[in-house]
Amino acid sequence: MSCIFCRIASGEIPASVVYETEEVLAFSDLNPQAPVHVLVIPRRHVESLGSSSDEDRSLLGNLMLACRETAARCGIADRGYRVVLNTNADGGQTVPHLHAHVLGGRAMHWPPG
Ligand code: AMP
Ligand code: ZN
Repeated sequence: MSCIFCRIASGEIPASVVYETEEVLAFSDLNPQAPVHVLVIPRRHVESLGSSSDEDRSLLGNLMLACRETAARCGIADRGYRVVLNTNADGGQTVPHLHAHVLGGRAMHWPPG
């Protein structure tokens, strides 16, 4: 298995886990861009939002709910946070396993870079 996030999901590579369910895993980003920076991934390999299908409707919904739960557990829900899904090259996606970034603990800027 060569996908780094699949290896994290299987426990082969250690990660600092914030929240998990049968379907998704949330863990701290190795290179945080904000005081709170957590990645939320489906355990099942889906390459990107762009390669997801209508059959992934429930998975995508549960991924969003896990982002909400992650923000609550990290104490950033009330002040606010940003959820980012970088998709493919122009979107800035570097790891080809669907993941949502949950960023908070500081005010975010707009427009993003
Ligand atoms: P993206 O650029 O949207 O594909 O985001 C990939 C993210 O994965 C980056 O923010 C990296 O810092 C993060 N990352 C890469 N490898 C690991 C790892 N082993 N554990 C935690 N985060 C990682
Ligand atoms: Zn994967």
